[in-house]
Amino acid sequence: MGSLAVADRNATGWAAMDSSGVLSPYTYSLRETGPEDVFIKVLYCGICHTDIHQIKNHLGASKYPMVPGHEVVGEVKEVGAAVTRFKVGDLVGAGVLVGSCGECTACSADAEQYCDKKIWSYNDVYLDGTPTHGGFSTAMVVNHRFVVKVPTAIAAEKAAPLLCAGVTVFSPLRHLGLTSAGRHGGVLGLGGVGHLAVKLAKAMGHSVTVISSSSEKREEALSRLGADAFLLSTAAGAIAAAAGTLDYVIDTAPAVHPLEPLLGLLKVDGKLVLTGVVAEPLKFSAPALMLGRKAIAGSFIGSVEETQALLDFCAERGVEAAVEVVPVGEINRAVARLECNDVRYRFVVDVGAGKA
Ligand code: NAP
Ligand code: ZN
Ligand code: ZN
Repeated sequence: MGSLAVADRNATGWAAMDSSGVLSPYTYSLRETGPEDVFIKVLYCGICHTDIHQIKNHLGASKYPMVPGHEVVGEVKEVGAAVTRFKVGDLVGAGVLVGSCGECTACSADAEQYCDKKIWSYNDVYLDGTPTHGGFSTAMVVNHRFVVKVPTAIAAEKAAPLLCAGVTVFSPLRHLGLTSAGRHGGVLGLGGVGHLAVKLAKAMGHSVTVISSSSEKREEALSRLGADAFLLSTAAGAIAAAAGTLDYVIDTAPAVHPLEPLLGLLKVDGKLVLTGVVAEPLKFSAPALMLGRKAIAGSFIGSVEETQALLDFCAERGVEAAVEVVPVGEINRAVARLECNDVRYRFVVDVGAGKA
């Protein structure tokens, strides 16, 4: 603690200054590395669709300047006196959250992502009132409770998307008891979260059906990602023919879409897991659930414990994200392309301009 120069605490990030969608360079000071903190030099940060929702104020709660980015992989440069799990030089990850109360029912159950006092890694404030800023930045200071170890078996840039997109799939599958081999899963939306849903489900021994609005993704889904079947979401006949075949559907669509075709695909007791952020109400009719004892669940990222378990699972099974690495100077072009559904399958920004 205390070994870094004052200049190291001057972070340069890429900030949204308003809801236009454009990020521009922005300099700010990081807090001193406190006893429980880890100072992270950012190497890579994935661009999640949630970053677009936040940058463009889709949820009406954005505050500017805002440095987004919550799929962060970096190198430890300094640790606080009370930190024992990390040391200088470790490759670590940080995700959507950087704080929680540590005492409530959710926190006590290793489900701190549902804590009412959680602190988001950006577009939020720390307990002392200073704004939080995310991973499109040279560095971050993060409480060690919200830092995970990145196994060296996974390339740093391919690990970054696991910190949000990956755990968003892993957590509900674990929580709903859907990780055992032999399941048949569906994935709606083949983007950042969706492609990891395919890869993780395959690694668990599931048969996977992709449901997509993009016919040009069919071949890639089947050959590159290893999906077993592909349904075009507009192909009503093919969807009807597959009725009652899936144990679950991970729904990642970031906009209003019909739920009943998805409910129709589920077996009795099947689960539709909503993960996409859709501000407007979604519709379904009660019999579509009742006649099959089906359930619609929502799920939000995963706990730190689940994130570490996911990273270890991926290291063991050889699962990594399919990424397009972009230099930090091209971040605006990447954000614009993500918004147009033009990415295979996650942009990862080379913030540190080099490998770990
Ligand atoms: P993404 O990379 O943009 O992928 C979304 C995919 O959904 C697209 O690739 C596309 O797949 C499909 N899609 C796009 N626009 C659509 C539309 N208008 N209607 C139906 N489908 C559409 O986004 P992402 O990063 O995976 O995130 C997906 C959603 O999950 C976002 O809303 C994000 O905020 C949210 N999210 C939630 C959590 C959580 O904790 N619950 C975590 C991460 C992200 P096809 O081309 O295959 O149709
Ligand atoms: Zn995310
Ligand atoms: Zn709590």
